[in-house]
Amino acid sequence: MKKIIKRNIKIYNSITGKKEIFNPIIKGHVGMYVCGPTVYNKIHLGNCRTFIHFDLIFRYFKYLGYKVRYVRNITDVGHLENDNDEGEDKIGKKAKIEKLEPMEIVQKYTIDFHQTLYLFNILPPSIEPTATGHIIDQIEYIKILIKKGLAYEVNGSVYFNIEAYNKNYEYGILSKHKIDNLIESSRFLKKQQEKRNPKDFALWKKAPINHIMHWPSPWGNGFPSWHLECSTMSVKYLGKFFDIHGGGLDLKFPHHECELAQIQGIYNQKTINFWIHTNMLTLNGYKMSKSTMNILLPKDIFSGKNTFLEKPFHPNIVRFFILKNHYRSIINISNDALIDAERTYYSLMNKFKKLDNIYYADTDNVVSTFDVFSWKEECHKAMDDDFNSPMLISLLFKATKYIELLEKGVLKLGIDDFLLFKNTMHNFIFKVLGLEPIEKIDNVSKKLINLLIKIRNNARSEKNWILSDNIRNELKELGITLEDNKNITTFKIKT
Ligand code: AMP
Ligand code: ZN
Repeated sequence: MKKIIKRNIKIYNSITGKKEIFNPIIKGHVGMYVCGPTVYNKIHLGNCRTFIHFDLIFRYFKYLGYKVRYVRNITDVGHLENDNDEGEDKIGKKAKIEKLEPMEIVQKYTIDFHQTLYLFNILPPSIEPTATGHIIDQIEYIKILIKKGLAYEVNGSVYFNIEAYNKNYEYGILSKHKIDNLIESSRFLKKQQEKRNPKDFALWKKAPINHIMHWPSPWGNGFPSWHLECSTMSVKYLGKFFDIHGGGLDLKFPHHECELAQIQGIYNQKTINFWIHTNMLTLNGYKMSKSTMNILLPKDIFSGKNTFLEKPFHPNIVRFFILKNHYRSIINISNDALIDAERTYYSLMNKFKKLDNIYYADTDNVVSTFDVFSWKEECHKAMDDDFNSPMLISLLFKATKYIELLEKGVLKLGIDDFLLFKNTMHNFIFKVLGLEPIEKIDNVSKKLINLLIKIRNNARSEKNWILSDNIRNELKELGITLEDNKNITTFKIKT
């Protein structure tokens, strides 16, 4: 097994409201479940914010050498229009609107989700289970809850009995919602006649006659509730006690509260060690949200085809903009913030490139005011402290001044320090933050550009300046700039 870099990681545990030392349940392994999207619409930047921050966490554990099992589900049934077991199934409704099969909707928007996340350089999870693939498991869960007296059936639907649950446990322990206060709000009391108590929540819903997605069950034809799928799939793939459960802060109540009650009720033990909640991305000061259509789609940000931003922004810049903020901070997107992220991104990347192009170390005349080892330790400490990416980024910047000094020959590092500096910069920028050089191009394009460079260099050696200038100018038109150094020509791509 890969050697683990032992660190003292502290994570803000959303259930206790405190930063706690993270000790994995199984040595060398991390199990993490994150609620995935409901695939009925194009994914917006708010969703991406959450998945980018969990990608950072995933990447850091992997970088430290942990074997991470990252489970992120796809909700393809059961998510109703409002959180209180009312309204149409979001996917079923969209299927009617778009005149498609529900599974066509699921396929269409799952592809959009994957393609978008790929552009952001978000690593795929280890397992991506779907709710429809786990109907049998969900039915089994409900049977256990009924048997334990924690759920009851009414007219083909099954509800979780919070009063019964509260005899031994405490519903609301995660979100600190006082449920008795909540039920007084009229929204909660509406249309709840079927439930014994308005605070109970659905586990299984009877399918109305025109409902497209339904499955047979001991209680008749119906479909599982949204909360149940995550309880079932997290435990199925990570075990009865696992390290981390995550999602956006908007899922804390009721989704995660209900999930927790279901698992606790079934297994009668602590099942989730750490709860991690990412804060929201806002647009115009309001939560970016599909339901209010207060959204910016990633592809419109990349193409510049939107009325909110003045220019297009590359996915790497947007990712960098997100990671310049801590996962627990609200991020408000703005043109200025993206412009600033773009400027700092290029600055960091260009400085790193310079470092990458320095191949010397001066062992005889070491003149160093830069304690590379302590700086590396600081970078780790930033990430160990509840995945503080803004702090990490500022430490990377702080070290770029030494790149300039190295270039000027003012700072001279011994070979070990020099390599440590280069590798640490490289690892934190690319492996942990998951940034990429913007001129990332496919191999064929790279080969073609190099072929043109070769033809141009031949033209130059034959003093055919017209051809050589033409190649340079035509490439420039395409955003590809050639740089002639001593014996070698390199290129830069501006997107
Ligand atoms: P949904 O498909 O609406 O269930 O959302 C998928 C994930 O995106 C969930 O973890 C949500 O908490 C998260 N999410 C939704 N809107 C935002 C937002 N504006 N900012 C950050 N995360 C969000
Ligand atoms: Zn979930």
